[in-house]
Amino acid sequence: AATKVYGVVGNPVKHSMSPAMLNAAFRRETVNAVYLALQTTDLKDLIKLVQDIPLQGLSVTMPFKQDILPFLENTDPLTAKIGACNTVLRAQDGKLYGFNTDVAGITVPLERRMPLKGAKVLLLGAGGSARAAAFGLKEKGAEVHILNRTAETAAKLAKQAGAKVIKRELLAKTAFDIVINSTPVGMAGNKSAQLLDEKELNAKLVFDLVYNPIETPLLRLARQKGIPVVTGVEMFVQQGARQFEIWTGKPAPEEEMLRVVLHALKQQ
Ligand code: NDP
Repeated sequence: AATKVYGVVGNPVKHSMSPAMLNAAFRRETVNAVYLALQTTDLKDLIKLVQDIPLQGLSVTMPFKQDILPFLENTDPLTAKIGACNTVLRAQDGKLYGFNTDVAGITVPLERRMPLKGAKVLLLGAGGSARAAAFGLKEKGAEVHILNRTAETAAKLAKQAGAKVIKRELLAKTAFDIVINSTPVGMAGNKSAQLLDEKELNAKLVFDLVYNPIETPLLRLARQKGIPVVTGVEMFVQQGARQFEIWTGKPAPEEEMLRVVLHALKQQ
């Protein structure tokens, strides 16, 4: 059978860990497929390539997660509500289907640690990954409180997703089950300071979506307070694992994928 071709489309994609992670997964499961980094500035050209080569599936990353939507024949309802797609499947009829596996990348690691139904969640940020978090967590029955640097964006997302906004002054006297950082604060090279101070972090579990070779300031604070943490590495592996499953119909070799990502991070 012909080798299937997949790839990550973005700009830039040079440093993406997805090719190493997905190629390792294909090898481990003896799937006859390769996964490429597809650097582009023009999504239209890229879509032509998808039909011509043909590519069987795409991971979609910055800055194309929204721009890809008009090119898709069909998107699952949650992806449409979020307004961002990170996974494309080219069906046998050549039609393109869109999914958002960032949602599972956020909900699966949390569900493995606590039930999300009724969980009280503080979501820091209101950008792309926060949208996946807010809609995904609401669907699981969580109570979501959003705090963002730009208050209007938080209010808009809260309204769309059926979440609430919370004022910073209330944090020191509010206990949450889960605190999620969906801002880039804490990324290696990001100069911004700590998001929350010691009194403002009251949670049973802290999830930082940032994936770094180093511990983020938020996770350090959580550790100092004895709060269990989830790192962005787990989100990265889970969103990729769900892509593997959508494309191949097989369970993803998550441990192998994690091993490859940790190795890649060490080399950064
Ligand atoms: P967006 O640019 O869409 O959103 C960024 C959000 O962070 C906005 O709400 C923005 O607020 C806020 N923000 C930015 N800078 C600051 C700051 N200095 N202080 C306070 N708030 C700030 O980014 P994404 O949602 O796409 O990505 C956010 C982070 O999530 C990424 O940097 C990445 O580390 C992580 N991520 C991890 C993934 C994984 O697989 N682990 C997948 C995707 C993302 P405002 O509205 O005021 O601008």
